[in-house]
Amino acid sequence: MFEKILIANRGEIALRIQRACRAMGIKTVAVHSVADSEAKYVKLADESVCIGPALSTQSYLNIPAIISAAEVTDAEAIHPGYGFLSENADFAERVEKSGFVFIGPRPDTIRLMGDKVSAKNAMRQAGVPCVPGSDGALPDSIDEIKKIAKSIGYPIIIKAAGGGGGRGMRVVHTEGALSNAIITTRNEAQTAFGNPVIYAEKYLENPRHIEIQVLVDEHGNAVHLGERDCSMQRRHQKILEEAPAPDIPPRLRDKIGERCTEACRRIHYRGVGTFEFLYENNEFYFIEMNTRLQVEHPVTEAVTGIDLVQAQIQVAAGEKLSVRQKDIVIKGHAIECRINAEDPYKLTPSAGRITQYHAPGGPGIRVDSHVYHNYMVPPYYDSMIGKIIAYGDDRDQAIARMRIALSETVINGIKTNIPLHLDLLSDTNFLGGGISIHYLEHKLALHNKTSKENG
Ligand code: ADP
Repeated sequence: MFEKILIANRGEIALRIQRACRAMGIKTVAVHSVADSEAKYVKLADESVCIGPALSTQSYLNIPAIISAAEVTDAEAIHPGYGFLSENADFAERVEKSGFVFIGPRPDTIRLMGDKVSAKNAMRQAGVPCVPGSDGALPDSIDEIKKIAKSIGYPIIIKAAGGGGGRGMRVVHTEGALSNAIITTRNEAQTAFGNPVIYAEKYLENPRHIEIQVLVDEHGNAVHLGERDCSMQRRHQKILEEAPAPDIPPRLRDKIGERCTEACRRIHYRGVGTFEFLYENNEFYFIEMNTRLQVEHPVTEAVTGIDLVQAQIQVAAGEKLSVRQKDIVIKGHAIECRINAEDPYKLTPSAGRITQYHAPGGPGIRVDSHVYHNYMVPPYYDSMIGKIIAYGDDRDQAIARMRIALSETVINGIKTNIPLHLDLLSDTNFLGGGISIHYLEHKLALHNKTSKENG
């Protein structure tokens, strides 16, 4: 096992990875920007290295600075967390060429799955069902594209092959709107992701977002850890997730899980990963794979009893999986609320000092957060300041525990989305289970319209 791991990330996930390392007796190196030098996990790390100014392009995305930090501290492996460099194949390659272990898949696997067009092709070949679409990149000719769009059938969604984070997508309802959408999405794709390749998919009108967690070692053993429902989204970004997904027949879950593990073996996958699907009328349609740890991994940990970060580190060190598929039992129900520093309904970010802080607790409650009383939420990074996870014997109990936990939480000095979460946890449609990915957008639009009308 490794003696020392460098954590190339910040915030709650840096703390989460650090906790896994400490539990395994592994020393940690925290790298941080100037804006994060006072962070709790930086103080708790065995060593820390400042890698640059606040702007992430100069710190958390600064590959040479991170590699040097690993060199001067004699770390053996680098954990990229999520976001930042976690799905950057060039980074993974640089890490390995510099003699360190990258805690994640091989660089060529990241590259294959990082391009959504090649990822879909690989999945189709592996027998994973995909959203019907252009079967590859869209050509230059608008007439050709019109033919493709017609054969898919409107509405369609134009997506950037290199896209991520809910950006680089555009829904097109009619042929008249097609050429403008193509031009804008192509430009956006080039500017935001440095890759102008776009493709088209059937736009599903009422799907749910269901994803399958996998865990794979480099000896060809692969297991799936069931599914998560991440349909509660705004701006194509998740805010509340749960496991298992309400009303997915176990037979269907097992079938799609097996397809995912089989695909992992075919592409020689290694580490933890997530297959994301849209789910409509009892059918799964692959949209993309995330080749890293996900924000919402704790709900899977809660219902399987498996520590995904420790397992991820074990397989990165070359160990064989200690569990087989038949050992994995889904028990109980877990919900995660992402706590964001933002206006709950307008969604505008709200950085600043936390003047009062009280974290919730009690049976079945887990809080993953790096913030504390008097913590300064910097304006430079993602607005998520933590996650609350509630576990229960069943969904009703998990929801009830989450409600109590959120109502106990005190975060003053900044705005958070806790009021929105409380609203969702008493929403009859959410309580019924199985809302679609568009549900929250409609609810927010209605809320903002009503508040406008009421002055
Ligand atoms: P990203 O990598 O930016 O997260 P994804 O391909 O995972 O992009 O899509 C993000 C979200 O966008 C999905 O969870 C879903 O809400 C929506 N979406 C993506 N593809 C489709 C589609 N074909 N039909 C309807 N909604 C879609």
